[in-house]
Parts: sequence; C-alpha cells; structure tokens
Amino acid sequence: MTIPRFYSTASTVSARLTSLLKNRDLIKTTSYINGKWASPTNTTTSTTTFTVTDPALYPSPQAELATVQSSTREDFQHAIAAAESAFASFKSTTGRYRSNLLYSLYQAMLDNKQDLATLIALENGKPMSDAMGEVVYAASFFQWFAEESSRITGSIIASSNPTSRILSLKQPIGVCAIMTPWNFPLAMITRKLGAAIAAGCTTVIKPASETPLSALALAHLVENAQFPAGVVNVLVNDDAAMVGKLLCEDPRVRKISFTGSTRVGKLLMQQSSSTLKKLSFELGGNAPFIVFDDANVDKAVAGAIASKFRSSGQTCVCANRIFVHESIYDEFAAKFVEKLKSDVVLGAGLDQGVTHGPLIHQKSMDKVVSHIEDATSKGATLLLGGSKRPDLGDNFHDLTVLGDVTPEMLIFQEETFGPVAPLIKFTSEDQVVQLANDTEVGLAGYFYSKDISRVFRVAEAMDTGMIGVNTGAISEAALPFGGVKESGFGREGSMYGVDDYMVIKGVVLGDV
Ligand code: NAP
Repeated sequence: MTIPRFYSTASTVSARLTSLLKNRDLIKTTSYINGKWASPTNTTTSTTTFTVTDPALYPSPQAELATVQSSTREDFQHAIAAAESAFASFKSTTGRYRSNLLYSLYQAMLDNKQDLATLIALENGKPMSDAMGEVVYAASFFQWFAEESSRITGSIIASSNPTSRILSLKQPIGVCAIMTPWNFPLAMITRKLGAAIAAGCTTVIKPASETPLSALALAHLVENAQFPAGVVNVLVNDDAAMVGKLLCEDPRVRKISFTGSTRVGKLLMQQSSSTLKKLSFELGGNAPFIVFDDANVDKAVAGAIASKFRSSGQTCVCANRIFVHESIYDEFAAKFVEKLKSDVVLGAGLDQGVTHGPLIHQKSMDKVVSHIEDATSKGATLLLGGSKRPDLGDNFHDLTVLGDVTPEMLIFQEETFGPVAPLIKFTSEDQVVQLANDTEVGLAGYFYSKDISRVFRVAEAMDTGMIGVNTGAISEAALPFGGVKESGFGREGSMYGVDDYMVIKGVVLGDV
C-alpha cells in the first residue's frame, strides 16, 4: 500500500529553547508519520500551527517555546494506514527483536536525560529534579518491557475430549491509539508504548497539546533506534475532540489506550462503541491518605507532602484528601505546615533549588481557587498559603493547607489537581474507611499504620486500584498501575501490562 505523505507550514523554535538543549536534533515541530517527519516535500495537508508555552513564564512573550504544526484529520488517517501496513510484518517479529528495539530506546533516553528533562521542565513547568526523575521513570518502562517482550507465552490446556488438546496463543491486537496527558509528558507515553511494542502492536500516538515537544523528542529517538516505518507514529494536534472521535471510530484501530480525565474517558468509551474496541483507561483519582493514631507522625508528614505536592499536586495519584486521627491531628497539622514552610521553594522549573513549579494553565488555577474559596466559605481554616503568586507569574499558586475540611466541601468530592492539602479529622477505622471510599473514583490510596492486622484489613477494604502503606510514593514499572470504579480499567506496567495489548486465541487440536 502507498501511504500518502504530508507537508508543513512555518513552525518556529524560540532562541531560548534552542540555547537550552545540547542535542538540538531533539527539537522537532512537526509530526512523525510512517518513519518521516512532516515537511513541505512530503505532502501538503496542514496549514495550522499552535504554540507551546512555558507555564512558568506565562503570560510574558518569553513564555513562547515553539510553534508546532498541527496534524490534520488526513494526517491521522495516513498514520493509521501506515500503522496497519507496518503491523502486517511487525506482528510476526520475535520477542527478542522487539526487546532489542526497546533496550535501544531505553539507552537513548538515558543518554539524552538532561535534554529530555529540560524539555519537560520547560513545557510542563515541573522542577528539574522531578523532570530528571520522570525521564528515568519513563525510560524504565522500555527496560521493563524489553524484559517482558521475549517472555510472552501461551499455554496447553487439558480438553474434556481425550483425543483433543487446547492451545492458547497470545497475539498482538493490532493498531493501538495512544492518547496521553500533559502531567507526565514522557512517562504516560512510554508506559503504554513499551507494552504495545513488546506485544508486537503498532501505534498512533497523540500527546497532550500542552506538551508535544517531549513526545516529538521521543519520536526522534525512535527514528534513531531504527524502528520499522509505521510502527510508532507521533502526531501533534490541538483539536483533541476531533482526534479522539476519529481514532475511536476508525475500524483499523483495534485498541485505545487513554490517560486523562474521567470526563474524557467516558466520551471516548461512547465513541468507541461503534467499533467495539478494546480499551485501557487510566482516569482521574481522589486519593485518600489516612494517618492512623499508631503511625509514625514524622514519616507520615513526609509521605503526605511527597504524595500531595509532587508536581504541585498535578498527578493522578496525588493525595487529595488527608485524613488524620483526632488524637494526633494537631501534631500532624503543625508539623505538616512547618515542614512545608522550611522546605518549599516555589519557582520556575529550571531555576536552581526550586522544589515546586507552576500550574499548567489558567483552567487548573481556576479549579484550585474555587476549591479554596468553597472550603473556606463552608468553615475550613486556612493553615498555610491560600493565594496566587502574581510576582512569580500568572500560573503560580502558593502551596496551601486547609484544616477542618468536611465531606460537604468540593475539595472533598473532586480531584483538585493542584497544590492544596485538605486535612480531615476522623475518629475510628470504620468511619475513615467509609469516608475514604465515599467517591466514584478509585485510583490510588495511602495509609500509615504500624499495626500489621490493620495493614491487611484496611488495604483490603479500600476501594482503590493501588495502595501505598507507610509510603507516599508508589509508582514504578513493576507496579500494576490502574484504578477501579470511574478511575478506569486495564493495568499498565508490571507483568500484566503486555496483556492489555494482546488477544488470547484458543486453538483446538483434534485427533491426537
Ligand atoms: P483531559 O482533559 O482528559 O486531557 C487528557 C488528554 O486527553 C489530553 O491529551 C487532551 O488533549 C485529551 N483530550 C481532551 N479532550 C479530548 C477528547 N474530547 N477526545 C480525545 N482526547 C481528548 O485531562 P487533563 O485535565 O488535561 O489531565 C488531568 C487528568 O488526567 C486528571 O483527571 C488526572 O487524574 C488524569 N490522569 C490520570 C492518570 C492515570 O494514570 N490514571 C495519569 C495522569 C493523569 P489536549 O491536551 O490536546 O486537549
């Protein structure tokens, strides 16, 4: 099949962005389709561009990092055709071959760690130390799935007929569409892409429009790692509604893997019903973080801060409701606020010593402000912060702690996705487990306790897909990552991650 190509109009890169990267080949402003970068010489469909900004500098003109070419509907169709065409041979490659591809990508990411982290810090705003951590975390999925790829096995199943045997074969599902959010511009892609490649699938990736530069840098590494054309296509676009519908409704796409809000997940599920796709959804959370009376309070304070305020509260596994037993509530609240006061440096991700960066955009700021206003109007007490930091830029909000929060407040009911920690007093284990489960979502949950019986009891009773016990940091490639209830379904990473990209075929062997 001949795959049509496309073209690009003017895209631009700021002098600041260019000056900050050692390997400037990582800076790309057009999509990567069928092993080629969109350019004026290889087609002409798109004439629109969109701007990528540094949230730390917004709204100053210096915030502009680059303008990138927005792929069109036709471009996505070309990419799907390329992925379908590539699947015909890629599905039959050996696990060892795919493993080697993934190892190359893993190494390439580590070789470019500093530059990739700089791109993340610039377009997402997170501090450089977090961005470096993300690159290592993101690369670890390629390492993990390189190890999984050559160990995909089926089974022989006893038949009820003595002259038959049943074989189960695991086969790659086909073309997979991958849609990811801005909060982990690389890791949310690699967690899916690593598993898809290990399985033998081909991919069409649409990163968040806020953070396309990291994704395109990854595409450059894919190109260098000599993946066959069409196996990995990365298309940037700022009309997510158009792209989502197109990918869900195209019968050539056999699977959708999406990470983002529950609202969009529900929409994609509806749209996918016309073609009955296999779906993996990693959606919103409202994580409870429980500190029992037998907990080590200092460790719980450190864990709660790490969980709540990582990336300024913009992770799906961030503690969203911090429940503290009434007997240690005052001690916990005082230590929590003290530690934040002494440890936090708010600022731009690239500035030395910064521990917490800006919010991604104004929409996030509006939600943070509305949650604080709602809570304080209903009786919550402001223990720290509470307002924007206009002297740093429009997207900065002080790390904020609210005391005496109750279930009637919006901040209890909704995911804030920002730097506000609500403290809630509780009296008994039964009561707090019921409060923790009082939400339609169930992604991560945390609790601190030294009582081993309680550890099992509470871990089994909490309605979440993942639980951190005596830790505020759970994410790693070995963890089966995913939620229950309206946090979605499917598991990423871990020994289960590849299964989401495979189908099991049963073969009955007769006349044995
Ligand atoms: P969002 O609005 O759902 O956006 C996430 C992604 O979906 C972006 O790439 C966005 O593209 C795209 N999108 C938006 N509307 C779409 C549509 N109609 N069809 C197809 N795609 C569409 O979420 P967000 O508020 O930016 O991100 C934060 C949410 O993601 C939170 O709820 C968080 O908990 C969740 N999250 C979950 C996990 C997890 O593993 N469970 C991890 C990270 C984040 P554009 O950017 O181009 O608009």
